Amino acid sequence: MITFVPGPHLLDSPRGRAWPPVPGAGPRSPHLQSPPATADVAVVGAGPAGLAVASALWHLGIHDVVLLDRGGRPCGRFFDRVDTLRQRVLRSPYEHHPGVEGYRDCELLDFARLHWSQLTPVERREIRMAQSGHRSVVPVDVFEAYCRHVATLHHVDERTWQADVRTVTPTADGVTVRGDGFAVTAATTVLCLGEERRTAPAHWWEGDSAPRGVGYWDEPVPEDADQLVVIGAGLSAAHLLANALNAGKRAHWILRATEERYQCADVNASFFRAEGRARFDGTSWEDRTALMGGHRRASVMFEFRPLLQRAEDEGRLTVHRGRAVTAVTPGRAGRTAVRLEDGTVVHGDHVALALGTTVSNGDRLLPDGVVAPRDGWPDLDEQTLAYRNAPQVFAVGAATCMVLGPAARNIDGHRVATARVAGAVAARLHPADRQLGEEKVTARV
Ligand SMILES: Cc1cc2nc3c(=O)[nH]c(=O)nc-3n(C[C@H](O)[C@H](O)[C@H](O)COP(=O)(O)OP(=O)(O)OC[C@H]3O[C@@H](n4cnc5c(N)ncnc54)[C@H](O)[C@@H]3O)c2cc1C
Repeated sequence: MITFVPGPHLLDSPRGRAWPPVPGAGPRSPHLQSPPATADVAVVGAGPAGLAVASALWHLGIHDVVLLDRGGRPCGRFFDRVDTLRQRVLRSPYEHHPGVEGYRDCELLDFARLHWSQLTPVERREIRMAQSGHRSVVPVDVFEAYCRHVATLHHVDERTWQADVRTVTPTADGVTVRGDGFAVTAATTVLCLGEERRTAPAHWWEGDSAPRGVGYWDEPVPEDADQLVVIGAGLSAAHLLANALNAGKRAHWILRATEERYQCADVNASFFRAEGRARFDGTSWEDRTALMGGHRRASVMFEFRPLLQRAEDEGRLTVHRGRAVTAVTPGRAGRTAVRLEDGTVVHGDHVALALGTTVSNGDRLLPDGVVAPRDGWPDLDEQTLAYRNAPQVFAVGAATCMVLGPAARNIDGHRVATARVAGAVAARLHPADRQLGEEKVTARV
């Protein structure tokens, strides 16, 4: 079998280009006041999922929407994470973008073509590949400009407040969302909380916390770290290694699996289509768990393979395959020591933990008994994605994986979840227009 391995040049795209302003976009003034006290819908989290939900509600005529986000800017955490890793291209293809199922405004590929003169020759070639149905990579820069376009068109910017939500309390006629110094009472709320980084097991450390010289994948790596140790098998690990190697540094890569896994997307494409989701419908919890486990294993984009293999052949990268970490302790000469189960000790100036993410299922915000998690997954209505124990509270994003399948964590999965949730929210808010909502819900996208 011939495996086509794309070149590492595909991983590079310029960042920070000045895109023409979106029509209708004024200078964005930060909200200084607290969010309004009431709203039809409170959306917690303004990442790609929250952006998709607010845009869909806008198309359904629901404009009294308040988005509450720790960072206060649509998709802010996504781009902060991507930029910390210096990730310049997305892993998902051109068809995957925040937006609304059924309302095909200007799609990501159209948007990129509209800005043809701004693109590099490699980026233009990727567009041609996408147009002819082949795998292509999307520049983060284009994606960010597109997200801004979607946020502006659907008035999301002006409805987003910087706010750390601490509690979400269902009431007899709605829900109250509270944080320090504010409370929003809404008829419904949609939790779009995304995922937090997975923390290392506490037994790795000698004391209560990690020693000096240890950081997580979403934290900057110190410039003066000449020898980097990366723990983890996925795309974040690959970015950390590539950044170090491209800067002329040396690196160790510690993998628990016996070999690294390369694939072009992190979810099998079938799970983005109705037939893939049908593999979840009506199957047992055990079968869903098995599918999730098999399809969410850490993997690295194919483009990294030539770069990492060459570095390993040249001795700049040492890969410790099939070794689990047992301890991380202060090492010699101000370095940090990573101990492996076979007794090997790896020393580095900085240890980067790229251990993946954990799903926010709502249990930190909702009262006891509402989330009713099973293996960590919330108990959701499969048609509407409402919490079964609080039907005025909905989820979009990674928390919906056990209903929609592994693609629910990704940008295109949010579109599917959003279509169901927006329809159900509309039906709750405007029972007279129930048909509108039900049409959306029963479309079973
Ligand atoms: C480095 C990286 C690259 C990725 N690349 C891709 C890709 O190419 N394609 C793809 O489809 N997916 C990709 N993903 C997966 C990606 O995370 C999701 O597709 C997307 O970010 C999920 O959007 P979200 O809105 O669910 O979560 P997030 O983007 O995490 O947004 C959730 C928001 O909610 C906020 N929030 C959470 N709790 C609270 C609270 N209590 N109060 C207030 N605000 C709160 C967070 O601060 C955050 O801003 C990538 C992930 C990472 C980490």
